[in-house]
Amino acid sequence: MINDLVKELENEVGKCISCGFCESVCPTLPAAGYNLWKGARGRVILGKELLSTIKDKETINVSDSFYSCLDCQACLYVCPAGVNAGKVSHISKSIIASDTITGNQNPLAKMMARVTMRYMNPLGVREKCADWFKGMKADPDSNDLLYTGNMYQLMAYNKGMDSMRERMGKNLSEKMSSLVSTIPGLMKLTPVKRDEIIGQKMDKTLSNIALLLRKAGISFNYLGEAEPYPGTFIYDLGYLDLFEKYAKKIAKILKDSGAKRIITVDPHTYDLLKNVYPKYVDDFDLDIVHYLDLIDKSSFIGGSDSITYHEPCHFSLRDDAYNRPLETLKTVANVSLPARSGRRTKCCGGPDELIFPELTRKISEDRYRELQETKAEKIVTACPICFSNLNKGPEVIEIGDYLLSKLKN
Ligand code: SF4
Ligand code: SF4
Repeated sequence: MINDLVKELENEVGKCISCGFCESVCPTLPAAGYNLWKGARGRVILGKELLSTIKDKETINVSDSFYSCLDCQACLYVCPAGVNAGKVSHISKSIIASDTITGNQNPLAKMMARVTMRYMNPLGVREKCADWFKGMKADPDSNDLLYTGNMYQLMAYNKGMDSMRERMGKNLSEKMSSLVSTIPGLMKLTPVKRDEIIGQKMDKTLSNIALLLRKAGISFNYLGEAEPYPGTFIYDLGYLDLFEKYAKKIAKILKDSGAKRIITVDPHTYDLLKNVYPKYVDDFDLDIVHYLDLIDKSSFIGGSDSITYHEPCHFSLRDDAYNRPLETLKTVANVSLPARSGRRTKCCGGPDELIFPELTRKISEDRYRELQETKAEKIVTACPICFSNLNKGPEVIEIGDYLLSKLKN
């Protein structure tokens, strides 16, 4: 695998003409005080450096540059040479994470990958992620499986993880992470605290999504406490060998449930299952949809609400852009999009929250300001990570909550 990765990296970085256009759209560059190595061009330069290091068989010594990349792919759409600095970062993380070369793995990244492998959830809280469904009934005979992937639920624990790290400081938290990645069971002994405010908010959004589906006549199964996380972190952090094993295990669980169609609720799980799983799991033939695909746009009352919509990178910046949320919103409200939208949408900074929370804070504040500049009365998000990061005022609302309030009868 390492040789293929090196070839891929060579191909990607070889195209760069060092013009710097990518730096104008890369959200991490201004957030990191214009530190070259935390921007798109710097990552491509480091990708070249990583290659020369491998060829010389010296110890890899690269900065956290690749780990701070959001993989938002905004750089790809302005690069005259077609370089994807997000891809450069992902391949580079994969080379760093590969078993044959060690030396610069981020301790937190390693911990998340190991804990996910052990508990099928990056923080070991899988069972708690079913609490939102209490009092509701699943339909085990349905061909449809509602798959939350634990994503909305994890937002409450991410905040707890963030404050735990702040209290511990960088050095101690890295030491703890190294220890937990060696003994993942320790995660259960030091459970991450749940932020009740965001937790209850996210639970309510999931209930509203379930209600929207029921009102649309969809009866679905749900795995409850057995529902696993899809493995997004393992893939994003470059642990490709582990991801392959993990994805096969999760695909089997989904298939064994008897489902033919998987109803996802967030952009990360949708993108991973639709675009990445088929590359790693043979015969992955489950039909992957987003819940809004199943809800007729004519089910909502049209109105004159003034809203803006923050388009998630994993919907808008992928080859096969997914626009159903925006199309649905346009049928119910007056939508004014921010300056950066569509193929030029700007990441909320969420993917950096675990390892570089200070970058996430700056990027999300910046994006929130851009959304406010539209002067819309409401800011609608369609991703738990975007909501959690942009939730800086009462006007920010999740699309499931908003659409439920617009449902006819
Ligand atoms: S825009 Fe493309 S060619 Fe220019 S520096 Fe960035 S990656 Fe290189
Ligand atoms: S993928 Fe996003 S964060 Fe990463 S280099 Fe490109 S623009 Fe910057």
